[in-house]
This record gives sequence, C-alpha cells and structure tokens, in this order.
Amino acid sequence: MKTFEQLNIEKSILDVIKEEGFDKPTEIQEKTIPLAIEGRDILAGSATGSGKTLAFGAGIIQNTQKGGGIQALILTPTRELAQQVKDSLKKFSKNKKLIITSVYGGMPIRGQFKRLEEADIVVGTPGRILDHINRRTIRLKEVRTLVLDEADRMLDMGFIDDVEKIMKNLPKDKQTLLFSATIHGMVAHMIEKFLNNPVKIEVESNVDPAKLKQGYYDVQDNLKYSLLVNLLKKEESGLVMVFCNTRHNTDFIANNLSGNGIDAEAIHGGFTQKKRNRILEKFHTQKVLTLVCTDVAARGLDIQDVSHIYNYDVPTDPKDYIHRIGRTARAGKKGEAITILSSRDHDNFRRVAQANQISIPKLDTPQIDRVNLTWKAKPTKFRKKRRR
Ligand code: AMP
Repeated sequence: MKTFEQLNIEKSILDVIKEEGFDKPTEIQEKTIPLAIEGRDILAGSATGSGKTLAFGAGIIQNTQKGGGIQALILTPTRELAQQVKDSLKKFSKNKKLIITSVYGGMPIRGQFKRLEEADIVVGTPGRILDHINRRTIRLKEVRTLVLDEADRMLDMGFIDDVEKIMKNLPKDKQTLLFSATIHGMVAHMIEKFLNNPVKIEVESNVDPAKLKQGYYDVQDNLKYSLLVNLLKKEESGLVMVFCNTRHNTDFIANNLSGNGIDAEAIHGGFTQKKRNRILEKFHTQKVLTLVCTDVAARGLDIQDVSHIYNYDVPTDPKDYIHRIGRTARAGKKGEAITILSSRDHDNFRRVAQANQISIPKLDTPQIDRVNLTWKAKPTKFRKKRRR
C-alpha cells in the first residue's frame, strides 16, 4: 500500500489532501493517479464511493495551468454529479486557484457564457456542453484531458450521440479517462472507438459485506407503507434514503411521511434544478433526515453518513439496486440496505438477486402498527409514461 506522497502528486494538492484528513489513497487512487499524471489513457472499472473523483482529479489539477483556457473537460450523466465533481475539484485545486465551472441544463445558459470564457476546467452534462458547442460559447481547442465519468450510466441515459458529437469537437491529441461501473455493450464500443491503448484498472467492489447489512421484509401490499413508517420510527438511524421507482410514488411517500411526523423530502427529475439543489443541500447539512428519491435523482451523489437505504419499490433495472446500496456503508462506515416486498415485487426482486449474483436474507417482520395515509395523490388520468 502506497502513501499519497509516493504517487507523484504535487505539494499544492497534497496539502489539501492532508487538510481533508485522507490518510492513505484508496485502491483506485493508488492505481490511477501516477498513470493519469503521466498522461496515459485509462479505463477504470469503479463503483461510486471508491474515491474516483480524486483519482482522475489529481492528475488534471496538476497538469492544468491557470488562465490557459479549458484544459480538461469532464462529462457526467447527471446535473447533481456535475455539481459534486466541480465542488470536489475546486477544493483540491484551491491552492492553485484554478477556475472550475460546471454547466448543465435546467440552469440559465446565458449566465454560463462568461464563466466558460474564464474556466480552466469544465464539468458538465453532455446535452448542455453540446448546446454550448453549437452556440460557439465554449472553446475546446486547449483541452488535453477528457473524463467520461459513470460512462455506463451516460450511455444508459441515451447520451451516446451527444458524447460522440462532443468528441468530434475535441483535439485529437488528448488523454481520455473513462470510469464506468460496468464495461460491456456500448461502453466497450466506446472504449474501442475513443481510447488509445488504455491501461485497464480494476478494483475490488467497494461494498464491504462486513459493513453493509442487506435484507428484505415480505409483507402484504397494504402493510408496506405502515412497515416503512414503523422502521423509520424504531430504527436508530442517521440520514435515510427511501427509493421509489416513479416520481408519483416519490411524492406520495414523502408527503405521507411528513404527515405522519417524519421529516422527509422528495427529490426527483420533475423538480427544477434549483429546487433539487436546495433539497440536496438540506440533506447534506442534515436539516432534513429522510430523502425519498428516484434513481435518476440519487445517482452518483456522495452524501456522507447515510445509515439506511430503504427500497420501497424494487428497481426494475438490477444495476440500480447496486447503485442504491452503494449510497450507504461508504468510507469505512456501517450501513443497512433494506427492501420492502409485497407479492407483486417478488419476480423483480428475484431478477435483482440473480443478475447481481447476491443472496439477500429475509428478515423477520416485526409487529406492525398500522399507519393511516394522510395525503392522497390527485388522480392523473393521462399519465402516459412512468417517469423518474
Ligand atoms: P468519490 O468516489 O470520488 O465520490 O469519493 C467518495 C468519498 O470518499 C468522498 O466523500 C471523498 O471525499 C472520500 N474519499 C476519497 N478519497 C479518500 C481517501 N483516500 N480517504 C478517505 N476518504 C476519501
């Protein structure tokens, strides 16, 4: 195991790493940082929470000169992740005073023009970056490093065409770093097409079974909500995330929890970006303790001290189960991931366990005190598609 000092990181960054209290590099950092500083293309299979932001960030910050134009572009699938990566890079580069900006949809585009003119490093979602390219409001000639963060998710979300168009506008001679939890299908195609003799870095899954307890309850459909309330009231917990599959369920559960005296907020893709940021900030600062969310809204977020994950709905995509449970038991802490099933969830749950090759133990259902719903959704006659 190496120390940060042995990874060729310059002092200005090492000082912040020390201030942050990071004792030693994570596995992905140890393997990636020296190669990234050298300028190699890298293909890293890594889960969220593995320390990947500093793994790609250290080399970028080190190789970027203040005032030299946009020298690194980082693409992320979601707006929240863009914001989070920007905040993290800003912190690690504070001694170099680099200008780092994030651009994503849902925020006024005009306010981004000036920031893009001044930026040394840009983090953004593919749609908005492409928008700036089309408007000629982003200059990419100086880009020396491109990061595709959570590439699998980016492609799952249908960004492949946007990413390809962005690639065409970047200098040929550059370094590409691709981070992805899974490497197959379209990601493999992308690697073939865009990476130049990449070094492949794989790390152990960061879900430590000694730290993360998984389990499920099986109850009648009409007791699911009551069980959730019982658990939230009885379990000793810190921050809690409750996952639902649709915006509608997310609102429904959050509103009812609030009505039943549990401090909860919903977050999903139907809210404005401003509202999403405000809710996340409240959760980060522990002003609200229970976040009811969809996968889209929660993906890639790094929130410390989430003690419990509850799956109120079983995810339809088995990969989302892994992403959900990765929100807890981070950075050496303990966590629990609990799924609440009723008969109609069984098929889906079986698929989740099979696809991820995990066995999730059944838990004994406690005595459930029935809880009345306090908030009823308005009937929505024309809801065409379930949206997240
Ligand atoms: P990431 O995977 O980049 O989102 O990082 C996950 C979390 O781990 C963040 O809160 C980081 O601040 C933290 N972290 C990253 N590297 C280290 C490290 N070497 N030691 C301790 N914590 C770390």
